[in-house]
Amino acid sequence: MPMVQAYVEVEFEAYCAQCGDGICHLVDSTHSGENIRITPCENCIEGATEEGREEAEREKDSEIEDLNDDIYDLKLTIDEKNEEISDLEDSVTDLKAKVAELEKEVEQAREEGWSEGYIEGVGG
Ligand SMILES: [Zn+2]
Repeated sequence: MPMVQAYVEVEFEAYCAQCGDGICHLVDSTHSGENIRITPCENCIEGATEEGREEAEREKDSEIEDLNDDIYDLKLTIDEKNEEISDLEDSVTDLKAKVAELEKEVEQAREEGWSEGYIEGVGG
């Protein structure tokens, strides 16, 4: 039986399944086997990279927003604490005034006591 070997030339065009771009220049075959290698479409790789970059940016923006919220909360807390400090300072001022008043009363009472004692001493 004679052996027959047939060579068939196959021509085909390749298009990206995602974006439809012609990608014949990305197709590579061994010319003798059944293996055909197709490199991913440049547009789609670029798009995927861009999408990843945008997602990373969205995540970053969201993190910044969270941090700004935290900063806002901390500022409110600081304002509250400053108000408390101011109230305490007012209380301290009031108490100091009261102490000064009491000291004056004590001083006056001492003077009066001394005067009375003196007068009594002189009179008696
Ligand atoms: Zn594509």
